[in-house]
Amino acid sequence: MPTSFEYEFKTPLYKGKVSFPTGVYINGQFRDGSDGTTIDVFNPSTGQVLTKISEATAKDVDLAVEAATKAFESSWGLKAPGAQRSILMHKLANLMEQNLEELAALEAIDNGKTFNWAKNADVAGAIDCIRYYAGWADKITGQVIETTEAKLTYSRHEPIGVVGQIIPWNFPLLMLSWKIGPALATGNAIVMKPSELTPLTALRMCSLFTEAGFPPGVFNLVTGYGHTVGNAITVHEGIEKVAFTGSTLVGRKVMEAAAKSNLKNVTLELGGKSPNIIFDDADIEKAVNWAAFGVFWNHGQTCCAGTRVFVQEGIYDKFLAAFTEKIKSINVGDPFGESTWHGPQVSQGQYERIMGYIKSGKEEGAKVHVGGERHGTEGYFVQPTIFTETKPNMKIVQEEIFGPVGVLIKFKDEEDVIRQANDTVYGLAAAVFTENLNRAIETAHKLKAGTAWINCVNQLHNNVPFGGFKQSGIGRELGEYAIHNYTNVKAVHVNLRVPMNI
Ligand code: NAD
Repeated sequence: MPTSFEYEFKTPLYKGKVSFPTGVYINGQFRDGSDGTTIDVFNPSTGQVLTKISEATAKDVDLAVEAATKAFESSWGLKAPGAQRSILMHKLANLMEQNLEELAALEAIDNGKTFNWAKNADVAGAIDCIRYYAGWADKITGQVIETTEAKLTYSRHEPIGVVGQIIPWNFPLLMLSWKIGPALATGNAIVMKPSELTPLTALRMCSLFTEAGFPPGVFNLVTGYGHTVGNAITVHEGIEKVAFTGSTLVGRKVMEAAAKSNLKNVTLELGGKSPNIIFDDADIEKAVNWAAFGVFWNHGQTCCAGTRVFVQEGIYDKFLAAFTEKIKSINVGDPFGESTWHGPQVSQGQYERIMGYIKSGKEEGAKVHVGGERHGTEGYFVQPTIFTETKPNMKIVQEEIFGPVGVLIKFKDEEDVIRQANDTVYGLAAAVFTENLNRAIETAHKLKAGTAWINCVNQLHNNVPFGGFKQSGIGRELGEYAIHNYTNVKAVHVNLRVPMNI
């Protein structure tokens, strides 16, 4: 019998018992990993072990690929019409909705994000995403392409086959839905690896896949470490495409492994160090609120977090005063607290990494304006932190911290800020605040980023593409763009009356 997670939530916001297996899920069945070893999963609010999950190995990836291949060839892929895939995806979304609060509670206890955000952003967003792509499933079409009257020529958008998907821990269920939505809509079979830090919602989803009636093997989940299971997915010859979301460091390894094995098709959603530009004609109160949301939402563990806040010199002091008040009002604490806005970081490792960046900022001569310390005495809590008096080459200005730490930088004019904002290896997102429409649009167009927000930050929609310029990634997720990540285009030439005389 595989390990399981048994837990009773007794919080003011959610009460209920959960019980589900935490083994690997292959061919519609849970089982132990082939070595029988396990990984401890921690509650980041307390630092205590929450449960054990199976530690899968490369052998389990082989078994998952075998099951996925069989499903793809026998009952999925071109064998399951789009309308049928759509019905199953809608069933899955409906089951997620029926279990919305349980999924949110699992996300909150496993990742540390607040129950309210998990419910209203992560789980609700994941359900919407599955429904959005369920709508695409019967609308995947090629084109008839005019060539000559003697030929009929058309393209088909065929599913790729077995795809590998590797996701991070910051939005566990949402990242899973961004991956499975377009892959299932287009008829691919999946071998997925969740983060070893936050596997619970992915494990809970396995039972929902079974309950929705997906053919066994269409979705397989292999829990384990990146250097073993993740690597086994990236080098597997039976996997034709790998979709990865995570750090730029690991993204590089994924691409290298994919290139060295069977030259897999690769899409990468990687890190960022996004600029948020506040011009002197911005509505300061609104800009302060959005800027705080940009740096601190999800405790700063957001790939597109606007952690470099550039403020024009004429309003710098006024902005800093209001921003400081706002940050001090952020309620840090128990993810299940009714008014908590900011929970713990995901793990001891991330906590130490962030504290290391704070130390480096201090050592390099930047000033901690707010925060800069541990919050409380247990769990992995870090105070919302802002540095001022930074220099462009400091690590805290250049590197992705992935925690509640931002830098506030003064700028002179448009030319100055665009140069500074683009001075990064990343290019995931950027924001600009101004009441001048021309300035807003001109600045947005000059920023080297996959998403540009005007008078807002962190706004995403299922039908709008998301992805990075430069070292923030390759390819786009969401919208119609993601559909193209999961199809092979075949051109068919039908000879009607083209003579061939040799
Ligand atoms: P990570 O790169 O450490 O891990 C991501 C996933 O890759 C995990 O499942 C991990 O186990 C696996 N992995 C690790 N080593 C591997 C290897 N050698 N081969 C294959 N897989 C391996 O990232 P993380 O710490 O989980 O997540 C944080 C990072 O994710 C941040 O850099 C963040 O910006 C990025 N992110 C990007 C987006 C986006 O859409 N651009 C979204 C969310 C997170």
